[in-house]
Amino acid sequence: MAKQEDQFKKVLSHAKEYGYVFQSSEIYDGLSAVYDYAQNGVELKKNIRDYWWKAMVQMHENIVGIDASILMHPTTWKASGHVDAFNDPLIDNKDSKKRYRADVLIEDYCAKIEGKIDKEVAKAAKRFGASFNKEEFLSTNGRVLGYQEKIKTILARMGKSLENEDLADVKLLIEDLEIADPLTGSRNWTEVKQFNLMFGTQIGASAESATQVYLRPETAQGIFVNFLNVQKTGRMKIPFGIAQTGKAFRNEIVARQFIFRMREFEQMEMQFFVKPGTQKEWYKEWKETRLKWHLSLGMGAENYRFHDHDKLAHYADAAADIEFKFPFGFKELEGIHSRTDFDLKAHEKHSGKKLQYFDHEENKSYTPYVVETSIGLDRMFLAVFSNSLQEEALENGTTRTVLKLPAVLAPFKAAIFPLVKKDGLPEVARKIMDDLKWDFNVFYDEKDAVGKRYRRQDAAGTPFCITVDHDSLNDDSVTIRHRDTMEQKRVLISDLKDIIKAAVDVKTWLQKIEKTV
Ligand code: ATP
Repeated sequence: MAKQEDQFKKVLSHAKEYGYVFQSSEIYDGLSAVYDYAQNGVELKKNIRDYWWKAMVQMHENIVGIDASILMHPTTWKASGHVDAFNDPLIDNKDSKKRYRADVLIEDYCAKIEGKIDKEVAKAAKRFGASFNKEEFLSTNGRVLGYQEKIKTILARMGKSLENEDLADVKLLIEDLEIADPLTGSRNWTEVKQFNLMFGTQIGASAESATQVYLRPETAQGIFVNFLNVQKTGRMKIPFGIAQTGKAFRNEIVARQFIFRMREFEQMEMQFFVKPGTQKEWYKEWKETRLKWHLSLGMGAENYRFHDHDKLAHYADAAADIEFKFPFGFKELEGIHSRTDFDLKAHEKHSGKKLQYFDHEENKSYTPYVVETSIGLDRMFLAVFSNSLQEEALENGTTRTVLKLPAVLAPFKAAIFPLVKKDGLPEVARKIMDDLKWDFNVFYDEKDAVGKRYRRQDAAGTPFCITVDHDSLNDDSVTIRHRDTMEQKRVLISDLKDIIKAAVDVKTWLQKIEKTV
């Protein structure tokens, strides 16, 4: 646990030191759970967004994008259920006065049991050596099965109680499990209450005529209310999707994990409209497709897992999370939800407008079902950033800090250095820079010894360093150094563009989707 905390602390300080993420309004001591993306962070974030957009919109003929506004007619949120049901169960500790999400306290308790399972696995792996079969061990070991059963029972009870709004039982469960305040160890809890997460504000000049509106808590509703407009003007045929990226706002009860849980964050969502009755197949298909997208980035299949929900939201008939192994354990990165026809039907009812699709093949109208994929851009940023940050022991006994970002996502693709600041080398380096910057984000640096410049770029995550030396003046060649292998090669200046392109091209990376299972 201490190791995990250390790793997370390193992520936070590195994000600041290398211009990725700053605390918002830092000079005023910050605003809780609100962050700003800095000069490198904004590039990484944009590249993740583009990588998603290309995979979801550009590569699918039947998916188009929109950009709906953050403020929407207030009835939207009545219809969607957010006014009445977008709540989290909150519990306070009477002694420490700290506030928690009751469901998260219980989930963390289960994560601890999972930690025990991991320990059993590690112990057994050591004992059995090469002949160890993890799958078999997990499905036969008595102690492990007991732990698994315990987790299942706890989560099932919590799911049922939350679904039935039985908050007294949620508290009882916390008491039965003897869950204590993680900060103080106190078990002196208040009742569990529901807390609405939407931020409200007002439109209008005078208090009397002002209308209560909300900052959208999800981007999805902007897609639903535009469903028919897009379908008709785009002449879309079912099945088809509408994608959107944009800000969402939630007044989170507890927001302690950096950009994992923010009050203002960005979502990348896609709503896929399908024929009623086919939603289960599409749900399965999108679960697989989205996992492949993640795997294409090469961050290790062992760092992802599905979590199928027991506790379903009011609109869903099936739901799963893609969880990622963050520095603080496996947590939700993306949700895939089979949302039925709940949203479109609700908007029909509240607006009095028909939101039906006329199916020419079947010669009838119906309300489509929807399968949603919803990923937090900031959470994806944290997954990529924390996974890439590594301390590497070198052969000469020193260590280097390297940010092994997938090259396709790296803010700068190459850094260009003249070996020295004289003899015409800066001019050649500048010329290379002027040529490459049409295609890539490139960085120029002539300060300090080259070794030091390499280390700076390693820590900033730049995949290539290009050094111009005296020989370059005669042989039109430069040294290109790879961030991950530290290998250096002499190449022609005229080949640089192709070499970099081969490593950072979205096409090369996205094509891996076909190859990952
Ligand atoms: P959680 O259970 O962690 O609160 P959720 O199930 O409420 O998340 P969804 O409503 O399914 O989340 O939102 C879709 C995605 O949006 C999530 O998978 C997550 O990546 C992202 N997300 C949700 N809330 C936040 C937040 N407060 N900060 C950053 N990202 C968020």
